Amino acid sequence: MKYGSFLIKYAEIGIKGQNRYVFEDALCDRIKRKLLKVADGFKCIREQGRILVECPDCYDYDEAIAAIRTVFGVWAICPAIVIEDASWDNLTRCVGDFIEERFPDRHFTFKVFARRADKRYPMETPEICSEMGSYLLERFPDLKVNVHEPDIKLQVEIRTQAYVFCDTIPGPGGMPVGANGRAMLLLSGGIDSPVAGYMIAKRGVYIDAVYFHAPPYTSERAKQKVVDLARLISVYTGPIRLHVVNFTDVQLAIIDKCPREELTIIMRRYMMRIAEHFAGERRSLGLVTGESIGQVASQTMQGLAATNAVCTMPVYRPLIAFDKQDIVDIALKINTYETSIEPYEDCCTIFVAKHPKTKPRIDIIERSEKKLEGVIEELVKTAIDTVEIIDIE
Ligand code: ATP
Ligand code: MG
Repeated sequence: MKYGSFLIKYAEIGIKGQNRYVFEDALCDRIKRKLLKVADGFKCIREQGRILVECPDCYDYDEAIAAIRTVFGVWAICPAIVIEDASWDNLTRCVGDFIEERFPDRHFTFKVFARRADKRYPMETPEICSEMGSYLLERFPDLKVNVHEPDIKLQVEIRTQAYVFCDTIPGPGGMPVGANGRAMLLLSGGIDSPVAGYMIAKRGVYIDAVYFHAPPYTSERAKQKVVDLARLISVYTGPIRLHVVNFTDVQLAIIDKCPREELTIIMRRYMMRIAEHFAGERRSLGLVTGESIGQVASQTMQGLAATNAVCTMPVYRPLIAFDKQDIVDIALKINTYETSIEPYEDCCTIFVAKHPKTKPRIDIIERSEKKLEGVIEELVKTAIDTVEIIDIE
């Protein structure tokens, strides 16, 4: 079965009123870019509440569907045949031919759904449905109508041309990336932060990322794992500028001057400060982390409050109320899980205390941080100045 077009259904961007065309343009653009990698000659057109993709003569169907399924904002993909002459006799004949080719075995029940975007069409929707049903029953005696639970929902949309389809392939949902500004993801090599980045991007946000590594305590391979993860989520999020920050000296200073059980929290506070610097450079409007209440010692309500206290930007934590298994399920779905569980060390775990503070008090943490004054400013500046930028396309 060869399809000449895909009708793309979208959900939420339909309710954006005046801004609707911005969302539709962004969605069209994202789909077009994705399909460029599949074949030349795909065309994307905005059409009253739908996006229409016109396919070239030669393309790989599975690849095209897989590509569109990575575009946020796509609610469903309906591979459709296009009937240019929508006059009734031609329409019924072509729909019949479609059924014949698509379903060699026609022992099934069906229901016709019609949508008339062109109100000048001489028949009204209910009439189109019943007349089309009658035509098909007559042409294919094995078919039966079932209006409550049909095996096949045959959809006929009449615009300037007619589109006919019966398959609806789910897309990822969300909103097209770029529709809602930019944020800076703190990306570690774990399971959570790639999922957090995916989820924020799904709401239409461009993401960049910052990774803190601590050579020689963390290896090149640990860094490569983060690059790999960024690449995996970029399939959905689009290009990511990854900032690799050498955090070793900041970390060693904290270990030297501050109580060991406060190390993780103080370290996290410096990560946030440095991440905010790069967020500002990229005109980001917020930070994103993979934190989830109670998951580890530093993610108690008190721990989160202490980390949050140094931030001036909003911190988005899309996984905050998720159970680990729910996060793992998404990681599996978006194909990051296998990479996330590769066993490489993280800078958060190498010097971790046996009994880290689970209920840090901000005033006490601030007092400990005072001991860093005079040393830490220069170390933070160096960490920022020596950042390695990796652009993931
Ligand atoms: P993850 O699976 O995302 O690594 P985690 O359960 O291991 O999370 P933590 O190590 O406490 O939890 O980290 C919490 C969050 O802090 C991470 O989700 C991530 O956003 C950020 N983070 C932790 N370590 C790093 C790092 N080395 N570089 C950048 N961000 C980090
Ligand atoms: Mg981690």
